[in-house]
Amino acid sequence: PMGARRAAGGGSMNAGGKVPLGLKRKGLRIVVTGGAGFVGSHLVDRLIARGDSVIVVDNFFTGRKDNVAHHFGNPRFELIRHDVVEPILLEVDQIYHLACPASPVHYKFNPIHKTNVVGTLNMLGLAKRVGARFLLTSTSEVYGDPLQHPQVETYWGNVNPIGVRSCYDEGKRTAETLTMDYHRGLEIEVRIARIFNTYGPRMCLDDGRVVSNFVAQALRKEPLTVYGDGKQTRSFQYVSDLVEGLMRLMEGEHVGPFNLGNPGEFTMLELAEVVQETIDPNARIEFRPNTADDPHKRKPDISKAKELLGWQPSISLRQGLPLMVSDFRQRIFGDQKSTAA
Ligand code: NAD
Ligand code: UDP
Ligand code: UDP
Repeated sequence: PMGARRAAGGGSMNAGGKVPLGLKRKGLRIVVTGGAGFVGSHLVDRLIARGDSVIVVDNFFTGRKDNVAHHFGNPRFELIRHDVVEPILLEVDQIYHLACPASPVHYKFNPIHKTNVVGTLNMLGLAKRVGARFLLTSTSEVYGDPLQHPQVETYWGNVNPIGVRSCYDEGKRTAETLTMDYHRGLEIEVRIARIFNTYGPRMCLDDGRVVSNFVAQALRKEPLTVYGDGKQTRSFQYVSDLVEGLMRLMEGEHVGPFNLGNPGEFTMLELAEVVQETIDPNARIEFRPNTADDPHKRKPDISKAKELLGWQPSISLRQGLPLMVSDFRQRIFGDQKSTAA
């Protein structure tokens, strides 16, 4: 379903150059940093399925080998244990740069400025050396606790530079700056995605994010922990919609930044209700104090991605949640090694 994607089955591009029409598309060589993580592993599945060769670079800080184990033995797949903070030499056509712990629990435990700054610099250096196209997975967190709603890409954001979330927010803002500097100064081909809250199978079980928390809690018959008054909002995107958007962005002509998210906006109490409907109507709700600097609301304006990438999400929260629940059920109660597609 990559209808509008230029490099789909037939004619294709290779590091900026074009393969003449009529020639069969040659698989691209693609590196996915953070490819053993939640989003990265789903992206790898799609790239392998369309015939590309994929190198995953991951230090397994939050990712798991299990997420990509089904590709072991495929000659078009390679897994390298490597921290992107260290330089690396590879020969590739495209770089999807995802490496970065994304959950507040993880990034507060181990502030990740180095990964976002030095790691991004190294991947841009790699893009420069081999002439590869570079895609950064930035975040809606660059908008901070937004004073504009919904958030449009032209909004500069409202970020606390010295708070507990700053390592992530400011780290990604720096990564965006580096990306644009390499683009303007060195003519590197770049793409920037600002990803809004995403959920789906293979999410880390205990990473503290709200959807994984509620789903695991409901399955384990524990109370759903709602932080604060539960009236803060988020917009939840199913992972396959995001992967489609990332690939369209990479193959398209536009640098971005592009918001990639589902505009369906829910309070945390409404999310808890959807989880109750989906898993256990008797699940109890327990209120907990909220964390510092928690954004009060968040919802993407996706007009730009709709217009320029021909992209919009197609899976609603009520459709996507059950797909994640079956994976979580298996991982919590069944074979710990199982991975869902
Ligand atoms: P994840 O934690 O599941 O995946 C991140 C991967 O990066 C993991 O496999 C981890 O081991 C790896 N990694 C971390 N630091 C590394 C390093 N220094 N060197 C090499 N590998 C490293 O998170 P995810 O949800 O899949 O997020 C992927 C990307 O998307 C991240 O850049 C994140 O900031 C961004 N993002 C995600 C969301 C979301 O809701 N999931 C929202 C906004 C942005
Ligand atoms: N780099 C890398 N792989 C490469 C090329 C560069 O990891 O194939 C790293 C390099 O070690 C440096 C960073 O990317 O730390 C930025 O590289 P660039 O060439 O842009 O900057 P310079 O090395 O000239 O400071
Ligand atoms: N949250 C919650 N219960 C939880 C975990 C999180 O109510 O068990 C809230 C959290 O305070 C925030 C929202 O859910 O308002 C989204 O948090 P998450 O960490 O998933 O993502 P982010 O804050 O990065 O958007």
